[in-house]
Amino acid sequence: MITGVSDCLFCGIVAGEIPATKVMENERVIAFRDINPQAPVHVLVIPKEHYPNVAALAQAGDGLLNEVITAAHQVAEAENVSEDGYRVVFNTGLGAGQTVFHVHAHLLGGRSLSWPPG
Ligand code: 5GP
Ligand code: ZN
Repeated sequence: MITGVSDCLFCGIVAGEIPATKVMENERVIAFRDINPQAPVHVLVIPKEHYPNVAALAQAGDGLLNEVITAAHQVAEAENVSEDGYRVVFNTGLGAGQTVFHVHAHLLGGRSLSWPPG
């Protein structure tokens, strides 16, 4: 487990060094609005601790991944998209479009979401 990785954008948001529009926060997780939203509700949910991707977070095995998903659902409820449905996405690796290597769940909702994704 590594915290506060230098040059990590999302560690900077956790530290309060980079501004973000937070929608929820608890001891180990924060959620904030994506700067380039792809849906009416587009929130990023991250552990405060730095893991590069969801597989590394899963391997840590201390329940933190569960907390990220639980937080995503809480935000979906608070944003009134849980009934209609929402999508949780972890882009993993460059080929999947991951650009920030601090694990984050994209919570997307508020419009109909096509399948398969592009
Ligand atoms: P990825 O491409 O790694 O799956 O997702 C990274 C996400 O972070 C993108 O959706 C992008 O819009 C968002 N993002 C990049 N820089 C910032 C920032 O400074 N603040 C916020 N709130 N979101 C950001
Ligand atoms: Zn980080």
